[in-house]
Amino acid sequence: MKSAEIREKFLKFFESKGHQIVASSSLVPHDDPTLLFTNAGMNQFKDVFLGFDKRPYSRATTSQKCVRAGGKHNDLENVGYTARHHTFFEMLGNFSFGDYFKRDAITYAWELLTDEFRLPKDKLWVTVYAEDDEAYDIWTKEVGVPAERVIRIGDNKGARYASDNFWMMGDTGPCGPCTEIFYDHGPEIRGGPPGSPDEDGDRYIEIWNNVFMQFNRDEAGVMHPLPKPSVDTGMGLERVSAVLQHVHSNYEIDLFQNLIRAAARETACADLDSPSLRVIADHIRACSFLIADGVIPGNEGRGYVLRRIIRRAIRHGYKLGARAAFFHRLVPDLVAEMGAAYPELKAGQARVADVLKQEEERFFATIENGMAILETELAAMTAAGNQTFNGETAFKLHDTYGFPLDLTADVCREREVTVDAAAFGAAMARQKEQARAAGKFRMAANLEYEGPETVFHGYERLEERGKVLALYKDG
Ligand code: ATP
Ligand code: MG
Ligand code: MG
Ligand code: MG
Repeated sequence: MKSAEIREKFLKFFESKGHQIVASSSLVPHDDPTLLFTNAGMNQFKDVFLGFDKRPYSRATTSQKCVRAGGKHNDLENVGYTARHHTFFEMLGNFSFGDYFKRDAITYAWELLTDEFRLPKDKLWVTVYAEDDEAYDIWTKEVGVPAERVIRIGDNKGARYASDNFWMMGDTGPCGPCTEIFYDHGPEIRGGPPGSPDEDGDRYIEIWNNVFMQFNRDEAGVMHPLPKPSVDTGMGLERVSAVLQHVHSNYEIDLFQNLIRAAARETACADLDSPSLRVIADHIRACSFLIADGVIPGNEGRGYVLRRIIRRAIRHGYKLGARAAFFHRLVPDLVAEMGAAYPELKAGQARVADVLKQEEERFFATIENGMAILETELAAMTAAGNQTFNGETAFKLHDTYGFPLDLTADVCREREVTVDAAAFGAAMARQKEQARAAGKFRMAANLEYEGPETVFHGYERLEERGKVLALYKDG
């Protein structure tokens, strides 16, 4: 089954259970300052859960564009390293706004997975929130999942592993205990069952989270009960596609294979297993969808996250041998894969490619010199047996060559080297302090670059503008 069919089947299944099919919302959250990018299907329904907004339906289903590259849920550093993480992905969800609760949510999920999708029951594992006896009993007594595959997990504060069965959208907002469904990809793959010390491996992959929305967490961390208990679920389309297409990694599914081939074509890379191709295929989705939704590469906030993702993709292309803009050429391939499901991508195609091309040309102007400095430093370090990359050099790379800190760190990580982030921060603070002492930056009291309009305002002499530009590039 192709991922496009899986998406369709999911929505139709929940439509047949009385859910309204609702379109994905934008990646740029509407009127929610607590959120960098849309990171879950429930975001567009936040106010419905909180009781501030009413809809003509009490059940909904969506396929939601999500980006997790900053904020509370950030998977940027996982991309290229795990089989299951993307920066951009599609979250399939069903929602109950004060309508059904635990029993129906669980039985719908089980019916879809085992009847409709025909997944083998003995490969499915379940986790429930430690104290949630009700969910535990539904799974073990009503659905009939053997107790050895139903695992109770707490909020794990301070535990070394990541499993967490209390879902929160961010530091504040709707939240509640959850139950999650995992698929066992088999003993050839490293990793232990959920809740075990080795769960970070990719053998047991979490495919579906069912959240029982019950609280609104405020800034002080106090939980206020929601007006009505509700349900919010999220299943990664790419993860369930991998299961249904009998492959292990998300990057092996139909949709990604085409993008990976396109990335190989544009970088003239012969090794289709190269992690760099996976990163490029991942990043073209995030960058194109973000631009289609109105984000522009820049030096602050959302625009800076976008710029960092674009530059990481370019750096991977550079590693494969690309020496000129290539990334924007993947846009038509992406539109061919996803334009039908997301018309805004097709409509924005020309502009997306244009924005990417400009940003690429800009970075290709400095990447070669920057990489040379980076490589020289790494070689000197290796010779000296040093594992920590100099923070001053990282700052120079950032300041003069447009290398975001995370890009330098990404290169270093491939050599098992870490960047001295504290020294980087100190170098940046020092430079900003100097600029301020020189009276050049009165308006930027918070030491953040505030965008060209603000920064250049009031400067008469060109050379001074030039200096400020050089100082605050990417800051
Ligand atoms: P993981 O533990 O694997 O990082 P998560 O617990 O952070 O996943 P949730 O916040 O519960 O994920 O999101 C609901 C579902 O969305 C997950 O069960 C998974 O199928 C999917 N998902 C989450 N993050 C990603 C990602 N970065 N890329 C692809 N799919 C994802
Ligand atoms: Mg996660
Ligand atoms: Mg998880
Ligand atoms: Mg989860």
